[in-house]
Amino acid sequence: MNAKILRIAVPSPLYRSFDYLAPETDMALCPGMRVRVPFGTREQVGMLVELREDSPVAPESLRPIVAVLDSEPLLPPDLLELSLWAQRYYHHPPGEVFSTLLPAWLRQGRPARPHLVPRWRITPAGQQALTAGDWRRAPRQQIVLNYLTQHPAGVPAEQLRHELAVGSDSLRALLAKGWVEKTLEAMPVPRTLTTPPVLNSAQEQAVTEVCAALGGFAAFLLDGVTGSGKTEVYLRVVETVLNRGQQALVMVPEIGLTPQLLARFESRLHSRLAVLHSGLSDLERMNAWLAARDGSIGVLIGARSAIFAPLEHAGVIIVDEEHDPSFKQQEGFRYHARDLAIVRARQLNIPVVLGSATPSLESLLNVQRSRYRYLCLPHRVGAAVEPPIEILDIRAQPMNDGLSRPLLNRIQAQLEQGNQVLLFLNRRGFAPTLVCHECGWLSECRHCDAHLILHLRRRRLICHHCGAQQPLPSACPACGSIDLRALGQGTERIEAVLKQEFPEIGLARIDRDSTRRKGSLEALLQAVEKGERQILIGTQMLAKGHHFPNVTLVGVVDADQGLFGADFRASERMAQLLLQVAGRAGRAEKPGVVVLQTHYPQHPLLQTLVGGGYPAFAAAALAERQAAQLPPFTCQALLRADALEPELPWAFLTQALEVGTDPSREVELLGPVPAPMERREGRYRAQLLAQSAKRPPLQAFLDRWVERLVELKTARKVRWSLDVDPQDLL
Ligand code: ADP
Ligand code: ZN
Ligand code: ZN
Repeated sequence: MNAKILRIAVPSPLYRSFDYLAPETDMALCPGMRVRVPFGTREQVGMLVELREDSPVAPESLRPIVAVLDSEPLLPPDLLELSLWAQRYYHHPPGEVFSTLLPAWLRQGRPARPHLVPRWRITPAGQQALTAGDWRRAPRQQIVLNYLTQHPAGVPAEQLRHELAVGSDSLRALLAKGWVEKTLEAMPVPRTLTTPPVLNSAQEQAVTEVCAALGGFAAFLLDGVTGSGKTEVYLRVVETVLNRGQQALVMVPEIGLTPQLLARFESRLHSRLAVLHSGLSDLERMNAWLAARDGSIGVLIGARSAIFAPLEHAGVIIVDEEHDPSFKQQEGFRYHARDLAIVRARQLNIPVVLGSATPSLESLLNVQRSRYRYLCLPHRVGAAVEPPIEILDIRAQPMNDGLSRPLLNRIQAQLEQGNQVLLFLNRRGFAPTLVCHECGWLSECRHCDAHLILHLRRRRLICHHCGAQQPLPSACPACGSIDLRALGQGTERIEAVLKQEFPEIGLARIDRDSTRRKGSLEALLQAVEKGERQILIGTQMLAKGHHFPNVTLVGVVDADQGLFGADFRASERMAQLLLQVAGRAGRAEKPGVVVLQTHYPQHPLLQTLVGGGYPAFAAAALAERQAAQLPPFTCQALLRADALEPELPWAFLTQALEVGTDPSREVELLGPVPAPMERREGRYRAQLLAQSAKRPPLQAFLDRWVERLVELKTARKVRWSLDVDPQDLL
């Protein structure tokens, strides 16, 4: 084809690609190559998406491209196809879609060549020192050596600095002792693999079914309680895929991407493995991305964005904790990585396995509609049993700052037996509000419709929505009274109560505040593992991925938190989170129990969960959604708008409503309404919901609607965005 026109996706908020003149060259141009183009007064790196013979733009107005940056397509055809699909489905500007999916260095136009970085590895002498040594005086070194033991393939200095806050001085000291070594080798040393356990029959059946489906498209839901051996199933499937000479893409929520999980994969698979997540440096991201693309790694484990990683020869996609909301990107290009995993598996003609202990209602409905095949691991492995959940009615109970006497007694009983206890409260800080006991003044954010959270240790009031901070007032700003009181509980306050109740016991508080310093999470987890800390207090950071064999009691401090949420998904999230936390208890030989503190012991959600577990809850929730005509029985798209002046979003959304005509009459527009938090970061927010019983009419409607929205005069005065399949209406 003698294409003269190149259609290029250029990073910009515009809902279109741009045509340029092809260069006079013998070089074969292909979609998926990066090009440098003039754009406005600057140059940009764009993605060649199509070669054409003509353009709707007059030839004399077309500009030539500046340079072709790749000699072969950077994006393989399947990934290009996936991007174009996602761009149409999510109605997002093409240029921004490509900038989201490329690692930063490639987005900036750097050559697509891996940069090798030296990696640090533990030596046999280091191993010996680690087991034999007395580490009381050098706990930091011990942490480093432990970490390196978990990563036999070696770790770049940058990662050590990032994860453990280890500087080059410490590394040189360890090097001088001969305990670590530095290597440039890309391939890991051959490692001795741990022996896999014998699968139980449910696992066996799951592995057999998935493996039988290799080589074609099939979607599976692997429904198994925490500790039922789902990861073991993934490992076997991945092993089979590797033996076929193919690669596996394993997606996990960002927070679940723990060193333990990586170590488990590394110790079981004879293959190179790479990770992709937001904590990596730009260089590491690019290397992992390119290694997946050229097939030099067998397994890519990554968070949300890994769904856009190129794979030389993909064999399977696994999405662990498929219900996790973090698979949905909540800003910019709002894609859902789990949903894209299905699309991608279909394109690649390979199986996809969605695993969860608490499957999303979307996936359960897809099973009911025979779109997904259902695999179930009904029991925990071995002797471990699922912990019973007990409701603790705290009405009229004596309370010590959020902890009831009965719960404190049970904590004490477990501690006396040498067991560990986990307390869960999904709110960091000391208390969610500061109140004046004299006049009723409340600490409110000046920029948001939200309270400022009291952080006593830092002596500040902080808004968790916009980050605004102020020093703790010594007197009420309204009446001058000094009787200011903390209202409600946060993890800091629970920690303080427990310190006072159990002064002898080591505590570990795990939340975003206590783990801000690099390496502190690792250190806390190690202290818990060694039994130096017997009580764990944490937010949802604690709920996922970690394995605490000696935790026998999980206390949910405030089970009422999710009962009356503004969003219709609040109860689903609440149930998932509660069971996830519950899953931390009794994972080894010792049985565990979960205690929920509540003021609403008769609440149907709690009753259903306790009586019938997640399956009963999910069945009830699905029936409710169907009766109310809500997702997953309907499809939604949310048009959001915000501006500094309150009238502007309204003006825009009112016009949007006017131009939102639907000849098929299958799409309903609801709103505009103010967002549940109307003011945030000083901006006023409103929204308009489009809903339809079926997807195709909604998609057709959105195609037309977006074209009109971009033309609206009022659109230029607001910040607006379209969220297809919104995960929350906030
Ligand atoms: P999940 O991913 O469902 O939480 P895991 O795969 O992590 O469950 O399994 C829980 C624990 O049981 C792990 O320590 C794992 O090594 C172990 N395990 C898994 N399958 C078996 C098995 N068939 N026999 C013995 N132990 C197993
Ligand atoms: Zn006051
Ligand atoms: Zn704020």
